[in-house]
Amino acid sequence: MTGPLLTSVLISAAAMTAIVAVRYLVTSGGFAWATKHVRPGLYATLDTQIRKEIFWSLASAAVYGIPAGIIAWGWQNRGWTLIYSDFSDYPLWYLPLSLFAFLFAHDTWFYWTHRWMHRPKLFRIAHAVHHASRPPTAWAAMSFHPIEALTGAIVIPALVFVIPIHVAMLGLVLAIMTLMGVTNHMGWEMFPRTLVHSRLGGWLITASHHQRHHEAYTCNYGLYFRFWDRICGTDKGISDAFAR
Ligand SMILES: [Zn+2]
Ligand SMILES: [Zn+2]
Repeated sequence: MTGPLLTSVLISAAAMTAIVAVRYLVTSGGFAWATKHVRPGLYATLDTQIRKEIFWSLASAAVYGIPAGIIAWGWQNRGWTLIYSDFSDYPLWYLPLSLFAFLFAHDTWFYWTHRWMHRPKLFRIAHAVHHASRPPTAWAAMSFHPIEALTGAIVIPALVFVIPIHVAMLGLVLAIMTLMGVTNHMGWEMFPRTLVHSRLGGWLITASHHQRHHEAYTCNYGLYFRFWDRICGTDKGISDAFAR
């Protein structure tokens, strides 16, 4: 690889790392601020834990940013990926379908790698960092050991080579990923009870569901949907603390 070419790839990787880091700080910071108002004192004794959550999350920003930056460079400069930007390239009904396909594929990958990381030896190496958050806070969204971060970081960069997606839908996938990553850990439910306790809510993962994973460890492994948990018998419902 020639000098200027390598430089432009490195700049893209560094820029994406900065974007992921700022996105994390703004989103987690915003919901941590909201928590102060909605649940005063919820994080009162967690200062030391929060510092660690921010440290691991910023390290994860690089693990996520580098592959994403390289793929973004290739998309812009080499025509890599199946990302498209002209709405007429695929029918309009394909927009929501591609969004769902990305979320479902990511959820499937997450469920099985997450279950795998709960095997005792691997847990100690790769996943204990994430579970050191007891209880998790809005800052724990990307609090992962680099090995775990890597399993998450490769998903979207791989999927854009397999499933065609409009760049706006890809932005929506990333927004949903960021929003749910933060809010599922923040220690309170932002969605209305009528949704969480509805039929649809029985298939969706929100804070009420993921909190139970952090309490009990051996259930509720999913990311967005309860599909795999339900068919594999690992769904233990929502946290008792949240049900009240
Ligand atoms: Zn978690
Ligand atoms: Zn876990």
